[in-house]
Amino acid sequence: MYSLSEKPLISRQQIDERLESLAEEIRGEDFDIILSALTGGFIFTADLCRRIACPKLQIAFIKASSYGNGMESSGKVQISGLESLDIKGKAVLVIDDILDSGRTMLGIKEALLALEPSKVKTCVLLDKPARRAVNIEADYVGFSIGNEFVVGYGLDYANEFRTYPEIWTMRETYGQ
Ligand code: 5GP
Ligand code: MG
Repeated sequence: MYSLSEKPLISRQQIDERLESLAEEIRGEDFDIILSALTGGFIFTADLCRRIACPKLQIAFIKASSYGNGMESSGKVQISGLESLDIKGKAVLVIDDILDSGRTMLGIKEALLALEPSKVKTCVLLDKPARRAVNIEADYVGFSIGNEFVVGYGLDYANEFRTYPEIWTMRETYGQ
């Protein structure tokens, strides 16, 4: 059995403040296109891109799957949605919800680089550096967190909790 922490790990106010500073940093970089990884990154992407508010900045969605319905990565990354995009020569910002083992972001980055963009940078709402299994860091990180499983603000557990506005920790509870 799993249950949510009593209080959010990261509050709405903390998220809002960080979104403002991230948007300011990103606005200065003049990206052509944001590639947002579904499904977990959708709320973060929506909140961040309206703060960047740059007329030429395009948004596209890709689907990267490395997780089943549980809490452990399968290790394999499948990416769909890149086929229909014109990436060559473009400055691309990849947005995902969380950098955990790093396999998903590495898989996306490798697939993108094969399409010859002018640059690729990465942005994640959350980073779990202690969990890294491959050599990758994000260029923009909202919050660095410990080795805990989190839900809310787009992130799910078995497709639930995505609509919670804050970020919560899920804890294992015994004997219930
Ligand atoms: P990685 O490939 O870096 O191991 O995993 C990245 C993906 O795993 C994320 O895009 C996210 O979908 C999922 N993930 C990793 N850690 C968590 C977590 O703490 N909570 C949730 N809900 N998903 C996670
Ligand atoms: Mg994901």
